[in-house]
Amino acid sequence: MGKFVVEPSKRIKTLPPYLFAKIDEMKEEVKKRGVDIIDLGVGDPDLPTPKHIIERLKKAAEDPANHKYPSYVGMLSFRQAVADFYKKRFNVSLNPESEIISLIGSKEGIAHFPYAFIDEGDYALVPEPGYPVYAIATRFAGGEVYYMPLLEKNNFLPDLDTIPEDIAKKAKIMFINYPNNPTGAVATKEFFEKAIEFANKYNVIILHDAAYTEMYYDGQAPLSFLEIDGAMEVGVELHSLSKTYNMTGWRIGWAAGNAEIVGALGKIKTNIDSGAFQAIQEAAIEALSSSQQCVKDMQKIYQERRDVLINGLKEVGFNVNSPVATFYVWIKVPEGYTSADFTALLLSETGIVTTPGNGFGPSGEGYIRMALTVDKHRLNEAVNRIKDIKEKIFK
Ligand code: PLP
Repeated sequence: MGKFVVEPSKRIKTLPPYLFAKIDEMKEEVKKRGVDIIDLGVGDPDLPTPKHIIERLKKAAEDPANHKYPSYVGMLSFRQAVADFYKKRFNVSLNPESEIISLIGSKEGIAHFPYAFIDEGDYALVPEPGYPVYAIATRFAGGEVYYMPLLEKNNFLPDLDTIPEDIAKKAKIMFINYPNNPTGAVATKEFFEKAIEFANKYNVIILHDAAYTEMYYDGQAPLSFLEIDGAMEVGVELHSLSKTYNMTGWRIGWAAGNAEIVGALGKIKTNIDSGAFQAIQEAAIEALSSSQQCVKDMQKIYQERRDVLINGLKEVGFNVNSPVATFYVWIKVPEGYTSADFTALLLSETGIVTTPGNGFGPSGEGYIRMALTVDKHRLNEAVNRIKDIKEKIFK
């Protein structure tokens, strides 16, 4: 008998290396030296899910009615809670029966979306630097990726005028994401209008990833894509409870917008997953429908952290913008460094873990990302450690 060979698919073999693998390796080495690590690498909230949401889950978990397979598209009461949230927060009216479906986190929706619209050789327009799933999911579905660079000189918005006509004609989907990971940028109404115009001209479906709309500061609430005239004709918005309510582990989100687009995604999902645990949907209803004080408290905490970090970095000599949304700070590395060099320097000399910007795409080269996922005292400590090696940084 011949030796059995496990032969992975081309789609697995051509996956880019896992962004955090090299960093994890370096982190372990530094840890072995006994260094106290401050981890600003991964975008996972450090704060717990609010109590009232947990209590609702506990109760809902006891109910045998919730132990069965859930509805594929989500409980109507969950979709109604999402519709009410959109009405209250964005003054957008949505039909919960046809224009909203539940997702097992927005990542799940992003990953399945191209299967609904991309055929072999079709293009998706993908922002870079950006959340890696847009490009990977497109390729998994057999599509091609055209990257739209997000540059500081354009306020980290893609310049749609530079997309070649032949690519635009072959494009089926445009992914956009504001407030943006990793740059922290927010979109203007004008940009969304331009995107809708582009979508109509070339018949391109827009997926707006809105995971961070509730993580905002200085009272500057970001827009929903669905608020813009014409958005409902051309696109959907994906959202999630992960960041708004510190529920990354719960895996619950939604897609909302154009009924045909939502329906097509639903068709894919029906054949792959069996919906979200109903008790979690009930907890999500609790989160969306009860007092939003917990969200305000969270915004206050992140705003304080942001100010500690930004003011500290400015004092050290960094030229850094203060994000008005997301819990990410996108920092230009000092002269003479690459993203990888500077990430390595901070880790080995200060024990601070950051993410190299080029890991999010080539236009992220020359930047690093810090996540505001430790308390303000630790951030202050991080700033002090950076101050201590100031001479080394600015050679
Ligand atoms: N979209 C963006 C831009 C993200 O940064 C993340 C997570 O970090 C997600 C989507 C996925 O979030 P979830 O699947 O938890 O809803």
